[in-house]
Order: sequence, then C-alpha cells, then structure tokens
Amino acid sequence: MAETKGTLKRDRLYTEEDADLGLIKDRKIAVLGYGSQGHAQAQNMRDQGLDVIVGNVEDRFAEQARSDGFEVVPIAEAVQRGRVILMLIPDEVQPAVYKSDIEPHLTREHTLVFASGYAVHFGLITPPGFLDVIMAVPTCVGAIVRERYARGQGIFGHFGIHQDVTGQAHDLALAVAMGIGILRFGATKTTFGEEVAINLFAETAGLSGMIKYLLTAFEVLIEAGFSAEKAYCETFYEIQFLVETICRMPLGKAVAFGSPTATYLALTKTGDVVTDDVRERMRQMLARIQAGEMVRDWNLEQLAGCPVLNQRKREILEHPISEVEKLFMERKLASGGI
Ligand code: NDP
Repeated sequence: MAETKGTLKRDRLYTEEDADLGLIKDRKIAVLGYGSQGHAQAQNMRDQGLDVIVGNVEDRFAEQARSDGFEVVPIAEAVQRGRVILMLIPDEVQPAVYKSDIEPHLTREHTLVFASGYAVHFGLITPPGFLDVIMAVPTCVGAIVRERYARGQGIFGHFGIHQDVTGQAHDLALAVAMGIGILRFGATKTTFGEEVAINLFAETAGLSGMIKYLLTAFEVLIEAGFSAEKAYCETFYEIQFLVETICRMPLGKAVAFGSPTATYLALTKTGDVVTDDVRERMRQMLARIQAGEMVRDWNLEQLAGCPVLNQRKREILEHPISEVEKLFMERKLASGGI
C-alpha cells in the first residue's frame, strides 16, 4: 500500500484507469441516508449509469431524495433489495440502525460499504464474517463532492478493505470509489484504523484547533483596543486568503505570495506563537485518538445528552464575534464579495 521514498512514506494514487465500474453495474446500490454524503454519492453513482435506490426514514431527507428522482424505501427494505450497501448515516447513529434495520437482512450477496472507519474500527459494529466489508471515503463534505462531480472535476479520497471474503474486495472498493467520483482525482488505499485516526486527528488538531486559534487572535486584538471590524478582517480574512492561496499553489510559493514583509513575518515569527510544545500535544492527541479515548468520550457525552457540546455551541453563538460576523455576512450578500 505504502512505500518509502526519500524520507517520506508515500502512497500510490489510484485513478479511474485502475477500476472496473462494470463490477457493480448489475448490482443494485442501496444508499442508506440522504444527508451530506448520501445525496452526493447517490447522484454521482446514478450519473454513471448505476442502479441506485435510497433507504431513509420518512422525513425531509426522504422528500429531497424523491424530488431528486430516486425511489425511496425504508432502510430495511433498501438492504433487502440492494446488493452494494452504502452506509451513509451519521457515525454515531450507525450502530443502532445497523442492529435493527441492516444486520438482520444481510446475506452473502451483499457488500457492505462504509464512508468512515469509525464504527467498524472501534468495534461499534461487527459485520458478519460472510460478506465483503469495504470503505470508500471522499475527503470533503457532500455538497462539494456533488458540485465538483457535476462540473466534471474530481475530489481526493481513500478506499479500504476490512473483510475480503470473495477475493474481490479490492476491486469492488475501487469500483465504488469510481462510482462516487473520487477516482477522477485519485484515491489512496487505507485501512479502517488508519482512516479514522487521521480523520479524527485532522478534526481535532486541524479544524477545531483553527477555530480556537482564530477566536484567540480575535480576542487578543479586541483586548488591545482594536475595533471588532478590524479584528475580524485581519484574523478571519487572513485565514481565508491563506486557504485560497494554498489551494491554488504549493506552500513554498504561497508563503511568498503576499508582501515581502508578510512573508518575513510568516516564516520567521510565527514560531514564537506556535511553539514546539504544540507538536508534543498533537502527538498526545493522536495517541489518545488511536487508543479509542475520543470515541469513548463522545459516546459518554451522547449518553449524557451532550451537555458539554451544547454548552460549547452556545459559547460560540454568544461570542462577541457574532456581532461583527452578522454585519460582514450582510455586506457579503449585498456586495457579492468576500
Ligand atoms: P449526515 O448527518 O448528513 O446524514 C444524514 C442522513 O442520515 C439523513 O438521511 C438522515 O435521515 C439519516 N439519519 C440520521 N439519523 C438517523 C437515524 N437515527 N436513523 C436513520 N437514519 C438517520 O451524515 P454524513 O453524510 O455527514 O455522514 C455519513 C457518513 O459519511 C459517515 O460515516 C461520515 O463519517 C462519512 N463522511 C462524511 C463526510 C462529511 O463531510 N459529511 C466526509 C467523509 C465521510 P433522517 O434525518 O431523515 O432520519
């Protein structure tokens, strides 16, 4: 799967040339859930001539799927009628739905496909030993997965195998990866454990770290007497420009894209803020994720009715930044600009 080149471990990038969509052309695809990933993957697969049915409870997502032209049936029925089962309901509700509506209907004819290693790797779901269990994961929210696909573009992703009973799991995973559109760009082969560790790490160390980082920078500027408008622009828009720039060009060019002063400061002074102990805390965070601590904490939090999560959501909504955000959102709409 991976090899070492120079000092870095490298992965092969699989593309559409490596896949045979024909392997799943005659097998009905049951997309369970029509949320972020469900709506995108169902439509991408249908666009490639695959036979897709949607399994969903009767509510607004079911209505949306019908208005997008899909046949929508209860989840248990979709499993019975489908052969390739795409598990696209949220990770935290998968175990209960799996027990009640999916597991009782699984046969050797089925292939079970996950879009995350979460439930299987941490033992929240243990699929029966008689079928292939694979994974195909776009590394993006569903809206972008669909939007890019519809524009003829690709998105990076991963595929993996948990259980290979037929000897075809690798090829089936590639076929599904092609169906959902991630082989247009390219996908690496991964394991369920690796995928969930790296994804949860990115969400803690990366995404939420950035939110905390931004709010802290905003608060420091406000404390120092700067206006909310200026503090907002200089923190939030700085990040937006940086992200847009690094999406367009390699980091080495992106850092020199701003003024010489900005480049000097970025390359010589940020280490005074992001000090080396951040690396050690990231290492500890990764180890806790791999040991299953984060999943255990999340399960306990849900059992308690999500008190900490709800409190944190309230804190962000009530943060003073919301005053200036409102103004900027309105101006953004009014001007059609950033
Ligand atoms: P969503 O939260 O968007 O899923 C919503 C769908 O799940 C709806 O159809 C909803 O139906 C259904 N659902 C929610 N609760 C239940 C329930 N108790 N019983 C039955 N159906 C339910 O999920 P995502 O698309 O975000 O995630 C799906 C999978 O994709 C996960 O494994 C996730 O890790 C993975 N993934 C997600 C990415 C993302 O960016 N979102 C990226 C890559 C992978 P209703 O409300 O009608 O009941």
